[in-house]
Amino acid sequence: MIRKTRLFTPGPTPLLPAAQFAMAAADIHHRTPEFRALFLKVLAQLKIFIGTQNDVLLLSSSGTGAMEASVSNFTSPGDKVLVLSAGKFGERWVGLAKAFGLEADVVTAPNGETFDLEVVKKALKPEHKAIYMQASETSTAASHDVEAIARLVKNTDTLLIVDGITGLGTQTFDVDGWGVDILIGGSQKAVMIPPGLAYLSVSEKAWAAAETSKNPRYYFDLRKERKNASKGESAYTPAVALIAGLGAALDYIANQAGGDLEKGRIALIDNAQVNAAATRAGLVALGFTLFAPKSPSAAATAVAVPEGMNSGDLVKALKTRFALVTANGQGEMQGKIFRVAHLGFFDYLDTVAFLGAVEHIAKDTLGLPVEYGQAVAAAQKVYAAAYKK
Ligand SMILES: *Cc1c(COP(=O)(O)O)cnc(C)c1O
Repeated sequence: MIRKTRLFTPGPTPLLPAAQFAMAAADIHHRTPEFRALFLKVLAQLKIFIGTQNDVLLLSSSGTGAMEASVSNFTSPGDKVLVLSAGKFGERWVGLAKAFGLEADVVTAPNGETFDLEVVKKALKPEHKAIYMQASETSTAASHDVEAIARLVKNTDTLLIVDGITGLGTQTFDVDGWGVDILIGGSQKAVMIPPGLAYLSVSEKAWAAAETSKNPRYYFDLRKERKNASKGESAYTPAVALIAGLGAALDYIANQAGGDLEKGRIALIDNAQVNAAATRAGLVALGFTLFAPKSPSAAATAVAVPEGMNSGDLVKALKTRFALVTANGQGEMQGKIFRVAHLGFFDYLDTVAFLGAVEHIAKDTLGLPVEYGQAVAAAQKVYAAAYKK
C-alpha cells in the first residue's frame, strides 16, 4: 500500500495549499508598492487574528526571536522579573532572562500541570518589571490561565508578556480587555505556513518600557520595526514568500466564516478544541493516560503510555507504517509521553484518521487489547455532541 505523509506535530503543522501557491508566486521585491500593500494587509489581518488594537509587528525569525525581542526590548540588566515555567518552553524564558542579565524569580509547576494562582500571587512583587509565561506549554500540552494572571498584573507597573505561539488559534484571548502587553505567535503553528516568521502585539505600556530599556538591540529593535511597519516595510529584508503565504492563510481562515476574520478565528479555535476533546476521548478509550488532564491544551494532546512501555516505539511505528508524524516527549518526558497536534490546518477527519492509525499501532506494537473502532467510536461521540451545539 502507499503512504501519505501526515504531520501531526505541534509545530511545524500541515501546510495550507493556498498558502503554498501564494509562496511560490511571491517573487516580488520588498521595497515596492506591491510588497507594501501586501505587508500592510497582513499586519491588519494579524491585528484581527490576535484580537487587539495594539501595534502588531512581524519578524523574520522563528518564534524564539520574538521571545528574545520581548526580553531585550523591555528590560535592562539587573531588572527583576517573574517567570512562570512548567515545561521546556517555560525554561526558555528562564534561559533568556539569564542571557540578558535579569534577576528572575521563577514559579514552577510540575510537567503536565498549571500554576497555583495563590503561589503566583504571593510571588508577584511590585518591583517585577515583567511577568513571562506561556499560554500553552507545548512540551506538556498543558494550557495556562492567562486571564487569571492578567487580573493579578492589571493596574500594576508590571508588564504581562505571553508566549502565545501555540495559544493563538487554540484559545481565546481578550488582549486589550485583560491587559496583555505582549502576545507572541509563530508561523509554523496555527497559521498553517512553514517556520520562519514570528509576530507579536505590543501595548502602549510596553512601548513606554522600551524607551527606558538599556539593553543593546540591533536586528530585534522593535522601535525600528514599528517605524518601518507604519510605512508598510520592515527594517531588513523580510521573508517575503512567508508573508505572502501568511496573507493567504489568513484569507482562508476568514473564508471559513464568510470572509469575517474575527469569526474565522473563533471557528479555528473551536475546531482545535473539538479535535482535542475527540482525541483525548479516543486515546483514553485505548488505555492511554492524559498527561495534562486538569488543564489540557487544545493545541496538542499529550498522553502517557502504560507503565513499562516506550512512547518512542509508538511514534516510530506510526511513522514507519503510516508516514504519520507525531512528537515524542522532550527532556525527561521522552519515552513516557507522545504528543499529537490539533492547531491549524487539521479537520475532524484528520482526527479520525489519526485515531484509526493509533488503534493498529497500540494493538500491534504496544500489545494493548484493542477492539477496532474503539478510539474512533469515542471520538465520534464527542464530535456529534459538538456538532449539535
Ligand atoms: C514552537 C514554540 C515556540 C517557538 O519555537 P521556535 O522553534 O523558535 O519557533 C515557543 N513557544 C512555544 C510554546 C512553542 O510551541
